Amino acid sequence: MKKSILALVIFSFFASTSFAQQTVAANIEKVKKSDNSGSWFDAAPSPAPRKAKNIIIIIGDGMGTAQVYASVVAQKGNSNFLRFPFSGFSRTYSHNKYTTDSGAGGTAIVSGHKTDNKHIGVLADGTPVESFLTTCHNLGMASGFVVTSSVLDATPASTYAHAPYRKMFDTISLHMSQCGFDVMIGGGLSNFRPENRKDGLNPLDTLIKRGYDITYSIEEMKKSSSNRLVTLFCENYYGPVAPGRDPILTEGTKKALDILTKNPKGFALMIEGSQIDWACHNNDAAYMEAELADFEQMLKIVLDFAERDGNTLVVVTADHETGGLVLLGGDIEKGKNECKYTTDGHSGVMVPVFSFGPGAETFSGIQNNIDILPKVYKAMGKNITIK
Ligand SMILES: [Zn+2]
Repeated sequence: MKKSILALVIFSFFASTSFAQQTVAANIEKVKKSDNSGSWFDAAPSPAPRKAKNIIIIIGDGMGTAQVYASVVAQKGNSNFLRFPFSGFSRTYSHNKYTTDSGAGGTAIVSGHKTDNKHIGVLADGTPVESFLTTCHNLGMASGFVVTSSVLDATPASTYAHAPYRKMFDTISLHMSQCGFDVMIGGGLSNFRPENRKDGLNPLDTLIKRGYDITYSIEEMKKSSSNRLVTLFCENYYGPVAPGRDPILTEGTKKALDILTKNPKGFALMIEGSQIDWACHNNDAAYMEAELADFEQMLKIVLDFAERDGNTLVVVTADHETGGLVLLGGDIEKGKNECKYTTDGHSGVMVPVFSFGPGAETFSGIQNNIDILPKVYKAMGKNITIK
């Protein structure tokens, strides 16, 4: 009895396998007959990959993976970081240090060159290098930046200035007045006043002569109808976003997009959440989370735009991590993090890279900070040489 059951089971197995094979074979025949292009297994020709017409590089100054996760938790699952389809890591070391500063870190991201700490837009030997904003401007695209620090601070300065030392504000502001970008939004007015300068020059006059509308508040910025706009919100640096700072990051980003999208050749934009770094230098978790919440709102504006547009590559990364932040615990449902900082300076850990839009898939894996820009140019489908 047992033998006959076993025989039946074995027979059924082979019979069903044979039936399955016949069914597959029949289906293959059907596909062959319905396919007019010849061999049935040839992949259908894939459409030409989309090219990135517009480029937005966003830098969270000092924003490592722990800072990003703190924001994901604080947003209780509604974080805009979760909207990026691709992510990777960036190695941030500078030309002369294991741990980079913002000058060398910013220069590496926006120009594709490693340099010494404290340098802005120059190689270690002083040779000037060109940022993606300058390159895109020279290609006839619109260009600009929005920051929550001074427009002369290391990260924005690395997009237009060339100086061996990041605090050379007289030189840096002159370079800004001559760079030709369409939109420049941040703080730092005092360094433009002749009475505060060793050279006694007036780079604001230069900007006005070059056709810029200079505005000094959010209201003035919003009202401006000029396509060449400089906004200098404060004398030096803004305060923290909570309490009291005007929504300069979100409103500045909206204004920049309004102006830059008018150029039919596309645009390049750099946005920096500058004070994540300052909060982490202060080992102040509440300050950090408030700056990250502000950063999240800016990400929402940018990603909503990029989703609608379909031709915009968005890359979000950091120049370095600040604070050596460790998340020891917390409450995910309540959006609470238990933050512990291990330094009041920068650390050398890899930082995240998030990407969205045409070419976004190329940013996954571990890359160097200087690998980001060549990938951006490749996504644009243009034969651009890193200079
Ligand atoms: Zn930095």
